[in-house]
Amino acid sequence: MQVVDNLSALDRAKFGPIALVPTMGALHEGHARLIRQARTLTDAVLVSIFINPLQFENPSDLEKYPRTPEADSEKAEQAGAEVLWRPRYEEVYPRTIALQEVGAVASLYEGAARKGHFQGMLTVVKRLFDLVDPKWAIFGEKDFQQLFLVRRMVQDLELDIEIVAVPTVRESDGLAISSRNIRLSPNDRQVALVIWRALANASRMESIESMQNALDATLARESGFKRDYAVIIDEEDFSLATDDTKAKRALIAGWVNGVRLIDNMPMIGLAR
Ligand code: AMP
Repeated sequence: MQVVDNLSALDRAKFGPIALVPTMGALHEGHARLIRQARTLTDAVLVSIFINPLQFENPSDLEKYPRTPEADSEKAEQAGAEVLWRPRYEEVYPRTIALQEVGAVASLYEGAARKGHFQGMLTVVKRLFDLVDPKWAIFGEKDFQQLFLVRRMVQDLELDIEIVAVPTVRESDGLAISSRNIRLSPNDRQVALVIWRALANASRMESIESMQNALDATLARESGFKRDYAVIIDEEDFSLATDDTKAKRALIAGWVNGVRLIDNMPMIGLAR
């Protein structure tokens, strides 16, 4: 694996079409799964690690973001990355870059909770796409609204990039793997499992009403979980799902002892 801090150090002629795996580092098994998925498409797997200041609404969150460069190299290489690219700020933003347009979906849910987050995210993803010119880009379903917005941007701008989605990777007890999990104490971690229980309970239901009730009732039983939202949406447009909606997905966000967690799961009840 070649580690570069500037793409100009890369002999592009050596590579065929590239599969890009954009990350912010602190790599874990979720990222590794993305890299392995990329590897099924091509050997030319490029993992980027860039903590994008534009998508952090508050400076202390940016400051607190975990940085584990040595472990990241090891993890990326083990998972099958060919190139690890750690651009400096100036390579990504050599001048003032116009912020990406975002549609209405960017102001819902995560967008409502984190003002400017999705505009910053789409702006950096577009810059990474411009710089790398990948044939594929791999994203996790863990950040389902992000995945939706990236797909929408690729359509709107008619980019010739295939967006590949990877299902959420979980710990053996169901907790979605996240770089934020290290901020949870053992007790917090037990509390956080209510998210998984709520999703799993809802997914066993047949109607939207009973799915929503399962989410609400399960979350209400855990007083340590401060719910932000728990909804069932139509995957096509993020409107609230009805019983007739084909692809439904439950989205949950909330706080456990000062740590914000998100998760989601397809609701296949009626479609089964
Ligand atoms: P991040 O480094 O948190 O910005 O995440 C980089 C990519 O990894 C994004 O596409 C995330 O959706 C994906 N990702 C993060 N955690 C997981 C997980 N537990 N399962 C699958 N993908 C994940």
